[in-house]
Amino acid sequence: MYNETMLALGQAPSAIRELFAYGARRKAEIGTDAVFDFSIGNPSVPTPQAVTRAIVEATQDDPVKVHAYTQSPGDPVARQAVADSLNRRFGTSYTAQNLYLSCGAAASISMTLKALIEPGDEIAVIAPFFPEYRVWVETHGATLTVIPACSSDFQLDFKALEQAITSRTKALIINTPNNPVGVVYPRASLERLADLLRQKSLEAGHPIFLISDEPYRELVYGGLEVAWVPSLYDDTIVCYSWSKCLSLPGERIGFVLVPPAAHESRQIMAAVSGAGRALGFICAPALFQRVIAACVDEPAQMAIYEENRRLLTGMLDELGFEYVNPDGAFYLWVRALEADAQAFSDRARTHELLLVPSDSFGAHGWVRLSYCIDAQVIKNSKDAFAALMADYR
Ligand code: PLP
Repeated sequence: MYNETMLALGQAPSAIRELFAYGARRKAEIGTDAVFDFSIGNPSVPTPQAVTRAIVEATQDDPVKVHAYTQSPGDPVARQAVADSLNRRFGTSYTAQNLYLSCGAAASISMTLKALIEPGDEIAVIAPFFPEYRVWVETHGATLTVIPACSSDFQLDFKALEQAITSRTKALIINTPNNPVGVVYPRASLERLADLLRQKSLEAGHPIFLISDEPYRELVYGGLEVAWVPSLYDDTIVCYSWSKCLSLPGERIGFVLVPPAAHESRQIMAAVSGAGRALGFICAPALFQRVIAACVDEPAQMAIYEENRRLLTGMLDELGFEYVNPDGAFYLWVRALEADAQAFSDRARTHELLLVPSDSFGAHGWVRLSYCIDAQVIKNSKDAFAALMADYR
């Protein structure tokens, strides 16, 4: 009567969404200020005024035009505006033809995987990883290969990569700046990865694609460089989103970029279009295509996240928690005080602290805290964290 796999996905919301929904219920019961919700990555920085102005301006045009379907991969003017911005920033020469505007990074990754996967393929990810990767990889018929990051600093583990990437690997997904850990891979590390993938592609007799999932590209601290991956490795497909950098997660706008230097770039772009068609992701929201075209060079506002990072790490230092200092994004990866992260998260809940256990990210013994929240929540949570620590002393 229905698809059992889809039923299972629908009935088992992600650990993040489950905790987020619990938080909403709990806040209704005991009051918003009494719950310390570090569950979801909903940006807490308001969308820039330039975006609001662009929305207003766009709505002044003929509504029949504004809200009309665009071409399936997006309005050519908007796509060219994005290509021009990338070319200015990264010294590339992309055109509208290399871009498919999409409903955020989620749609971009799902479409890219659908476009690439053939029976028997494996898709590799670096653990800890964004849990939805598994859903998309398996839904599109591939096997997920989980490659752990270095346990000391969560950077790429080349020995593990060397062992896990085989001729069956169709693509590796990377995410830098990273959710959930907040690490940024240095240029030298990406260069080494590119060398490894070139060697592995040669051995395999087919290109191994690098899918660069980049919703946090603009969210780095201290002006850290996030290298442009396609400039280091030709067979890179970029899945981008304005959800986080322009605080527009509910508006669903992003892109897939298939660079001209990628193997059979035109065919892959056509397969991405075919995947968009098959999955029903045609024509990203038209209003936001216009908004993006107008605001494509708008910088991300980092001051609030920087202050939240300072507040949270300062407080956890004082209380004696161990964590990975994030160079980007707005997540803190904190070591659980017992081996079972779910049990630790459940214990935290008894103090009204909502911390996502690491298991669904493919790692054990940690929790993820989203600090894209009101600074006051961080300040008010100190007693709860102290009580949590006391439970384990
Ligand atoms: N990839 C990662 C690593 C994410 O953290 C997220 C969202 O949190 C996504 C993809 C999906 O982003 P979007 O909202 O643009 O679909």
